[in-house]
Amino acid sequence: MNIDNNFCWDHCPLCHSTHINKIGDADYSGEVKFSTQEVNLGRHPELWNCGQCSSRFVQNIIPEATSVLLYTNSNADQRWQSIPFEQHKTPEVIRTMAEVLVNKGRILDIGCNTGELLDFARSQGCITSGLEYSSASREILLSKGHSAHKSFDELTDKFDVITAFDLVEHLYDVPDFLNHCYDRLVSGGKLVLLTGDIQSVSARSAGAGWWYAQYPEHIVFPSKYFFEKFSDFQLETWLPTFASAGYVLPGYRVILSRLKRLITMNKYNGMPSRLPDHVMIILTKVDM
Ligand SMILES: [Zn+2]
Repeated sequence: MNIDNNFCWDHCPLCHSTHINKIGDADYSGEVKFSTQEVNLGRHPELWNCGQCSSRFVQNIIPEATSVLLYTNSNADQRWQSIPFEQHKTPEVIRTMAEVLVNKGRILDIGCNTGELLDFARSQGCITSGLEYSSASREILLSKGHSAHKSFDELTDKFDVITAFDLVEHLYDVPDFLNHCYDRLVSGGKLVLLTGDIQSVSARSAGAGWWYAQYPEHIVFPSKYFFEKFSDFQLETWLPTFASAGYVLPGYRVILSRLKRLITMNKYNGMPSRLPDHVMIILTKVDM
């Protein structure tokens, strides 16, 4: 499918500053897939930096309306295997999530795919709802006994916890998303995010070639400073981690792989990463 990826920001999509600059060309290689669908991009995506909040974002991206269609029609359940949350995520993420859910209550998982996090939350005693674009995934959610919604507009309840793992990097309007979550949380409620950390050691050393920035769906990479200074939430926890347990490799394998890359003159793309390159973020709604 040919796609004109002609969308560019004239300001930082996170803090809205116009003080932005190009870091370099992204390095998409081989077959490019958007979720489960193969796409041919007409333009070269670029990684940009915000001088005010230090977040980064991609220019020359697929316009939002096209993305929504691609997400809606793709079977996300085919791309990601349904590995139980406790096996898929790192020990620190599982432990922290269990602590967040200790008071049970109502949880909403946004971009929940087939509901592995919700399965875990239910095992901790929570009442579980999921929000998911993909209709195939929503059917699976319902079959497992979770509530399933397509958009924020369908929600009437308030939640004690909202989770969004591997989601914010896909969003065209993160501030608007944070506002929606704020409105849907009870006072003292928590929003838990998991995303790539653009300020991690490997992301910094890989620059525009960072592996995590080479997906057409990954368009924004918010900094810690953005959450501290430009959101209504209070930043409670910033926990460096990995995308999943499978990325945690013994140090010697990481070093061998980097040696091999040096010998073959391949540029470092940040993988494998010796140090965490993702972050689990806990934001608390504190009423003013
Ligand atoms: Zn910014």
